Amino acid sequence: MQTNLADAYRNTPDGEVAERILRNCVHCGFCLATCPTYQILGNELDSPRGRIYLMKQVLEGATPTAKTQLHLDRCLTCRNCETTCPSGVEYGKLLDIGRHLVEEKVGRGAAATATRAALKTGLGTPLLFNAALKIGQSVRGLLPGSMKSRIPAAEAAGNWPAAHHPRRMLVLQGCVQPGLKPNINAATARVLDRIGISLIAASEAGCCGALAHHLNDAEDGLAAARRNIEAWLPHLDAGAEAIVMTASGCGVMVKDYGWLLRDDAAYAEKAARISAATRDISEILVCEAAALKSLAPHASPLTQKRIAYHPPCTLQHGQKLTGGVEALLTDAGFELTPVAEKHLCCGSAGTYSILQPEIANQLKARKLGNLQAGQPELIATANIGCLTHLQSGSNIPVRHWVELLDEVLAGL
Ligand code: SF4
Ligand code: SF4
Repeated sequence: MQTNLADAYRNTPDGEVAERILRNCVHCGFCLATCPTYQILGNELDSPRGRIYLMKQVLEGATPTAKTQLHLDRCLTCRNCETTCPSGVEYGKLLDIGRHLVEEKVGRGAAATATRAALKTGLGTPLLFNAALKIGQSVRGLLPGSMKSRIPAAEAAGNWPAAHHPRRMLVLQGCVQPGLKPNINAATARVLDRIGISLIAASEAGCCGALAHHLNDAEDGLAAARRNIEAWLPHLDAGAEAIVMTASGCGVMVKDYGWLLRDDAAYAEKAARISAATRDISEILVCEAAALKSLAPHASPLTQKRIAYHPPCTLQHGQKLTGGVEALLTDAGFELTPVAEKHLCCGSAGTYSILQPEIANQLKARKLGNLQAGQPELIATANIGCLTHLQSGSNIPVRHWVELLDEVLAGL
């Protein structure tokens, strides 16, 4: 596509990135077929091609309106369009630039600004989030069904093995996951411990920054990235082999630290090193498959259960990781049910389910319909956001797949 950027953006770092991406788009429209918001709303401006056109207009000098902002806000950042695009258009990077420019020009009302600030602080600060969660859990039994379904019952973490192996890996604890589902990271530590790897956490690390980044607060997102980089580098220097992600939404963000901090002279190199060392837990276990197989999973009643697996967009489209989880679960003895429309987003998408509840709920219903069609007894996924979003609409237990693997290896 030809471009003619406005003087304000031509030859700027963001302008150059945007222009390169825009020029790759040939307007073929293949991406419309897999875009969840286009599938639901049927409006070209709620499709990747339509949003690309809107952003091109802004970069060429057009004045964006609240309507422009709405079409960009409705994007789930699922990046399904990137997987589909035959021309390699890096839509996610363009959207980051486009949303920032539009926010600068259009702004937001006081109520919307306050809601977004509350979400960023409330969800991104474990102390605040855990305190609020505990209050919610203590009155959960008294709440109406719709509210109750959004607050998971309190769970125990289970044992986290002491770090006694020479091989060590770091884990990102995450901001909401340890409160909502403390067993996920503990289960990861137990699985890795069985194959001779100790999992440790850096106490100074915190939220990955994805919440702020996707709420258009780039500076807060980068501040979180710099804090985590400083927390993790000494551990890598001391021999930690990798930084393990158990939430694919965090994984895609940390793998992007190198890109996001590429122009920061003090952090570019450090950030690239952190991103290169970051692995989803499925990547680690696929590489360690021989050690895992030697453990010969115990006969477990769990493997008699039919499992429907939902691959999060941040895993399959963001990190381009497909098939690994399915192979690990099958090797462990699980039977996976066939699931249609695996490529489509469930509607969770970070804070999207709170900010765009109508679209999010339609996508959740469609995803659950597909997942439940094979009559599974359990639903497995790889991201805390998808897990809680899907669980709020289903009576079938929704769990992180690594918990299932842990239980089979333990013979439970
Ligand atoms: S983003 Fe890719 S698939 Fe979509 S219109 Fe552009 S070139 Fe075609
Ligand atoms: S990121 Fe997802 S919702 Fe956004 S345009 Fe691409 S496919 Fe559509």
